[in-house]
Amino acid sequence: PLTGKTAVITGSNSGIGLGVAREMAKAGADVVLNSFSDREEDHALATEIAKEFDVKATYIAADMSKADDCRRLITDAGACDILINNAGIQHVAPIDEFPTAKWDAIIAINMSSAFHTTAAALPMMRAAGWGRVINIASAHGLTASPYKSAYVAAKHGIVGMSKTVALETAQEPITCNAVCPGYVLTPLVEAQIPDTMKEYDMSREDVIKNVMLKRQPSKEFATVEQLGGTVVFLASDAAAQITGTTISVDGGWTAL
Ligand code: NAD
Repeated sequence: PLTGKTAVITGSNSGIGLGVAREMAKAGADVVLNSFSDREEDHALATEIAKEFDVKATYIAADMSKADDCRRLITDAGACDILINNAGIQHVAPIDEFPTAKWDAIIAINMSSAFHTTAAALPMMRAAGWGRVINIASAHGLTASPYKSAYVAAKHGIVGMSKTVALETAQEPITCNAVCPGYVLTPLVEAQIPDTMKEYDMSREDVIKNVMLKRQPSKEFATVEQLGGTVVFLASDAAAQITGTTISVDGGWTAL
């Protein structure tokens, strides 16, 4: 159903972004993968997707902490019918010890990058007469946890920006929404386990069950395939009147 559409997915050489790229390609979309690195294996990911799903796939290196790179990613993609802002990083520390450089990087990558890519992509969507902006926010775009001030601020910010973009495009065939995952076992989450083990003096198993999935009533991680399926739905015709809202994929976290 997405044949002929081009999807640009920021931060898509691993985790949710890669899972979303694969589901988009499975649904027939051409995909543009991205991260800040420019390694052979990054480009190989695109080649594999192109082969597996018989679509066009490319990889463009661009650093989502830099405004110019964000805009260049969209220009170099050549087409951007579906923009998926997914790039994100995390840092966990009490606010009075939170490094300023980490704060700045999280705000830039997790929030401001979506401003720049959206600004660059909307004129292309308008020219094409159709578009979808899908922002990967978080349950932390709707609720908070201690020690994640920058992440929670950036994710609440991107939820707010999604609503604004939806209003600015409300009378056009363009929608903008945010997907709010709970915990998904990706490299980003894996990287938080050692710090959290130290913070709470707990074993790996206890951190997973009693800290990470404590607020996820299903007691299961969401999967990258489920996130990809949600994004494909938001890109479908069935979702044409869904705009300016959030879809939680969090095992009941935000129902608590
Ligand atoms: P991940 O670390 O596997 O993926 C992050 C991606 O962003 C990687 O491809 C990485 O290369 C890329 N990236 C990082 N810095 C970048 C930069 N400066 N420029 C370009 N790309 C950059 O993590 P993930 O869990 O797949 O996270 C993807 C998104 O989902 C993030 O926005 C994250 O906040 C969000 N999210 C994740 C979870 C979870 O439990 N994993 C939950 C809620 C929201």
